[in-house]
Amino acid sequence: MNLNFKTARRLVMVFMIASLICALGGMIFIRPGTQASVYVVLLALILMLLALLFLFAFCRCPWCGKRITSGMMKVEVCPHCKRDIDTGIKRKGKKK
Ligand SMILES: [Zn+2]
Repeated sequence: MNLNFKTARRLVMVFMIASLICALGGMIFIRPGTQASVYVVLLALILMLLALLFLFAFCRCPWCGKRITSGMMKVEVCPHCKRDIDTGIKRKGKKK
């Protein structure tokens, strides 16, 4: 399985947000110590793990294969090889 960087990044976001919603919702609506709270915590953890999995497995440059983590959510150009994530065209200097 090989995911497009931008798709992987979106999935990471989705899983992170779902996990947070789960954790927050659980804290607000479910009494701690009940069985439901255990499920919610587990679900939040699983979602968080999925997010991390996608982050580490697929959030890498499609051109040089190096992992992109810093500013990953908005990066358009690989910080390692300076290629555009979409097109693979090398960007030099300040040329837009
Ligand atoms: Zn690269």
